[in-house]
Amino acid sequence: MNHAQALLIEQARAILGDKGVITDAGDIAPWTTDWRGRFHGATPAILAPENTVQVAAIVRLAGTAGVALVPQGGNSSMVGGATPPEDGSALILSLRRMNRVRHIAPEEGLVIAEAGVILAHLHDAALERGMRFPLTLGGKGSATVGGLVSTNAGGTQVLRFGTMRGLVAGIEAVLPDGQIHDGLSVLKKDNRGYDLTQLLVGAEGTLGVVTAAALRLVPAIVERAVAWVGLADPAVALALLRRLEAATDRIEGFEIIPAEILDTVVAHLPGARAPLAGSHPWHVLIEATIDRADAEPPAALLERLLAPALGDGMAGDAVIAASEAQAESFWRLRDSISEAERAQGPAAQHDISVPVATMPRFMVEAAAACDARFPGTRASGFGHLGDGNVHFHVRAPVGADAARWYAEEAPVITRFVNDLVVAAGGSISAEHGIGQMKLAELARLSSPARLAALRAVKAGLDPHGLFNPGKLVTLAQSAPNP
Ligand SMILES: Cc1cc2nc3c(=O)[nH]c(=O)nc-3n(C[C@H](O)[C@H](O)[C@H](O)COP(=O)(O)OP(=O)(O)OC[C@H]3O[C@@H](n4cnc5c(N)ncnc54)[C@H](O)[C@@H]3O)c2cc1C
Repeated sequence: MNHAQALLIEQARAILGDKGVITDAGDIAPWTTDWRGRFHGATPAILAPENTVQVAAIVRLAGTAGVALVPQGGNSSMVGGATPPEDGSALILSLRRMNRVRHIAPEEGLVIAEAGVILAHLHDAALERGMRFPLTLGGKGSATVGGLVSTNAGGTQVLRFGTMRGLVAGIEAVLPDGQIHDGLSVLKKDNRGYDLTQLLVGAEGTLGVVTAAALRLVPAIVERAVAWVGLADPAVALALLRRLEAATDRIEGFEIIPAEILDTVVAHLPGARAPLAGSHPWHVLIEATIDRADAEPPAALLERLLAPALGDGMAGDAVIAASEAQAESFWRLRDSISEAERAQGPAAQHDISVPVATMPRFMVEAAAACDARFPGTRASGFGHLGDGNVHFHVRAPVGADAARWYAEEAPVITRFVNDLVVAAGGSISAEHGIGQMKLAELARLSSPARLAALRAVKAGLDPHGLFNPGKLVTLAQSAPNP
């Protein structure tokens, strides 16, 4: 710990009290490694304010001392976004104690939640008022509002409700100079120049600290139905989705899973079993909902729409969950993929998007190209087919030494996959962000115009590079020659 950090920690203690300053190495440890266990950082302290004024005070002191801060919520980033640098040069600024739902207005369809509110708690708070916050994802028990906003998170319900960008109506944030930006008053029309709220969405903590967000709510679900369908390939899956979408606007989840990943999850989860008896190369999980009691029941809707697909062979087999418990068990299979894969061993993970219509071919051809180019590995994609976004993972050969494979093989595979993505007109980050994992690849594959603009925004708001250093974009990074 250097002198400036030691001084800042003492000053923080005077503002936050002992509860708001964590310096015990054992208490810090869980927060310096990312969820996947790929990135390991170090920090002398975690500062945990409990209100916006305290955040602003800490940010001002850190700016004066020249000490970097890493904003952190639930630490469930998939790209090492909330992991501090290895050299211990930054302090973690944890928002987890700012966990109040400040205001819910069902009649306006709005909730104002502090940055540290956990997504599952936000769901509960909305439901108590007959409403729903419609974004959800596998990490809902740990992901926080601040992290979701700052990564522009997606998840499994994007098909109908969009990503966080569309659900954020306003933001309160502390900017790198310590000033509080109060953007929580929600206006239908506001043309005062650059949209600061949207600039902060997806900024990954590099432009300041989100302290609260005004979020859009929708009416609570009256009833839902969840179906599991076995089919031949991703092209058939997309054709099925298009057929469903042409018939109804009630489909809000449509997730694709290859058989080998389903097998991995079933083997990993105690008591889990595959929803369908026979074997199918690909599976889709479909959710339909209604928010009005007089609408066609979603199970009847899915039955009506899936019957022709079964009749004409588009679907090999299908089952509609017979109870809410069974529906939950279907979703549990989907939501446990990341956990099951983590337990299985090393894999090079790519959260990528390509145009929706291109995705089925991309999934098949890119997997075949990887398997051929890197013998012993197994590539496959799963996830949000209807958004043109899958998690394309290349698993290491059986018995590979994880540390060596991650250091030597995985980066080569990642460059190979990312080149395929770019050639298909896609993005190397669909919903997880850039963090530290994709920093170099973003620089390698972005146009000079995009990189220069990213750096200019960063330099304008955080000229000393004190906010989440080494993530998304760095001031020192040089652009390729135009
Ligand atoms: C099992 C599992 C499934 C997942 N599924 C999905 C999925 O389907 N879709 C998806 O998009 N993501 C998914 N994720 C990733 C993760 O949940 C999201 O990225 C989430 O938004 C991170 O929230 P967090 O609070 O944990 O943020 P953290 O991991 O703590 O931080 C993430 C980033 O946001 C910044 N940040 C955090 N809080 C603030 C703040 N208050 N102000 C400014 N910056 C801040 C951090 O510096 C970091 O750059 C999944 C994760 C897990 C573990």
